[in-house]
Amino acid sequence: MIFAELKLKNGVVRIPFVCHQCGKCCKILSKIVFDPIEKKIYMENLEVISKHVNLDELIEEFSKKVDTNHPVMLPCPFLRDNRCSIHPIRPKSCRIFPLGKDLDQGIGCPGLKRLNELISAFNAENVEFKFVEGDIEKIEVSKEVVEKFLSLNPSDEEIELFFKLNGKILSGFKA
Ligand code: SF4
Ligand code: SF4
Repeated sequence: MIFAELKLKNGVVRIPFVCHQCGKCCKILSKIVFDPIEKKIYMENLEVISKHVNLDELIEEFSKKVDTNHPVMLPCPFLRDNRCSIHPIRPKSCRIFPLGKDLDQGIGCPGLKRLNELISAFNAENVEFKFVEGDIEKIEVSKEVVEKFLSLNPSDEEIELFFKLNGKILSGFKA
């Protein structure tokens, strides 16, 4: 999960990043290289991915799609109907995008834009972007911080993730 950890005057709050699944980053930032002569795929996680997909079929598909002058395949060939077809096993570089403001790389990620909107509503003293896999220990936030977040018209997914990150509410707030 990607989130921003905000240091406030009176505590800390974590604001989740929600991917809008627009596919923009996958159309511009694919890191998959295909060598049509050697018929070889070069990408992170290929060993894991090859256990879940038929590599021969993939090579045949890539052979038809590849631009021999530009072996970096764009859009990413795993993008189908704007969704990642290998989402649970996608490479780490995909899972962490767009961690940190600088990593947007001019993509105009709408999820990052929304995250920055939420962040700017809090007047934080410090903002740290984080990526965590697996379970994460929830932190305590105040009733006022929760109310502030809920006043920003969060989506259902933003609310769900917010309470995964900020589970222990101080001042007796009942979520
Ligand atoms: S550009 Fe951002 S919102 Fe769109 S798919 Fe990539 S990470 Fe998700
Ligand atoms: S592997 Fe999936 S998440 Fe990564 S660039 Fe390709 S389609 Fe996008």
